[in-house]
Amino acid sequence: MSEPSAIPQEIVVPSPTSGGGDAVPTSLAQALGTSARRELTEANTPNFSPQLLREYFDHLFPYKEMFRWLSYGNDPESSSALTDKNYFRNREFSFTLEDDIYVRYRSFANKEEFRQAVLQRCPIKIDIGAVYNAPPTMHNSVNFFPKEKELVFDIDMTDYNNVRFCCDEANICGLCWPFMTAAIKVLDAALREDFGFEHLLWVYSGRRGVHCWVCDERARHLSNDARSAIVTNLTVALGGGQNDAEQLINMHPAIQRAYDILEPYFVQVCVKNQGLFDRPERWLKVLEMVPHSELRETLVKKWETSELSGMDRWVQLKKSVDVWSGKKPTKDAVGKNDKQGIFLKACIAEIIFAHIYPRLDANVSKQLHHLLKSPFVVHPKTGRVCVPIDPSDCDNFHPTDVPSLRRLHAELNDKAVTPDQSGDIGKNTSMKPYLQFFRQSFLAPMIKEQSLKNRDIAMQQLDF
Ligand SMILES: [Zn+2]
Repeated sequence: MSEPSAIPQEIVVPSPTSGGGDAVPTSLAQALGTSARRELTEANTPNFSPQLLREYFDHLFPYKEMFRWLSYGNDPESSSALTDKNYFRNREFSFTLEDDIYVRYRSFANKEEFRQAVLQRCPIKIDIGAVYNAPPTMHNSVNFFPKEKELVFDIDMTDYNNVRFCCDEANICGLCWPFMTAAIKVLDAALREDFGFEHLLWVYSGRRGVHCWVCDERARHLSNDARSAIVTNLTVALGGGQNDAEQLINMHPAIQRAYDILEPYFVQVCVKNQGLFDRPERWLKVLEMVPHSELRETLVKKWETSELSGMDRWVQLKKSVDVWSGKKPTKDAVGKNDKQGIFLKACIAEIIFAHIYPRLDANVSKQLHHLLKSPFVVHPKTGRVCVPIDPSDCDNFHPTDVPSLRRLHAELNDKAVTPDQSGDIGKNTSMKPYLQFFRQSFLAPMIKEQSLKNRDIAMQQLDF
């Protein structure tokens, strides 16, 4: 999520499709005609191309829903005194164009202006920033500051590279993706139960991670300090001494809940999928976290000489720690009291948290002005749409199942779906369930809450 240091205000570049005329076909199918259309089946279509992206922006990108979300009931056309008519206008967007041209401080008066700008530029990435006190074009003025933004979280699989052995760099597979599933479950529960947030939007980042947008009004108004405090609260301190160990023995309910979620994921993902205990170079590192030299040596001897499975070693480690933590401290005990037992009791939980507790990119969450990639854009490397993830069904989400430009192109053309007339875009394409989820499970409750709030305010004003 790094931002370029030199930020152009507005760069005028030719539209990716400009060829001197206005007659740009609205879909690739129209441009090619029937016979060529048949040849462009899913199998021989590239994952990503400017033409496919244009087709997606023409027919499938949910402008209306995005506007409804990001305006939070502040319709610029509304006559109600309760709406902030500049709200959407003061929201920063940035576009990344072809050749990595990055345009910050864009903003739009309304949905139609947003749509026109996207269609004109066909950005390979759209980022969403804060709502400012003035239109973002005024960003050079002295009195320009961010007023509010969703509380956001960014989790990237590459931050797990030292505990996953199936893939490297930006690659992902079914064996490592559940690291993300576990992170969603832990954070979703914490944000709802500990902080009382309700309007959470989880989104696949298009390649190797997930984002979370916390959209409650209270979250949008958090200061930078409050955001940092939440990130700190969501971090489990490990390896820092007796206090850290004790918090893993006498667990606070929030830590206990995370542990209960993570323990089965640790077994499935780390022990089974990743083979954490399958090879000496891996399990020796885990054993370094066991604060008892005699126990470590005992286990090394057993594990080196026997034909144990990774699962056997994990079970044996847990049982041994259980037994040995009740014994008297040995010479490498920390301090004079029986602290070795404390550290030993904590070490199983510490191993689990160290391997699979959510690894947040904290800087993304801490700053109001930080931009984050918009939902529903398309990742140019994978051609996959950044679709919402239902946290209550995230075990069944897998990145390879999400709509890709290639698949959507085939669906749009095979099924002859008409462009958006009724607002029911995505009909008969694999975008449909994701759009339905966005509308019904995310947008509708938020809009209802806003309406009730506005009604209450109006009633109060009538009373006066
Ligand atoms: Zn993998």
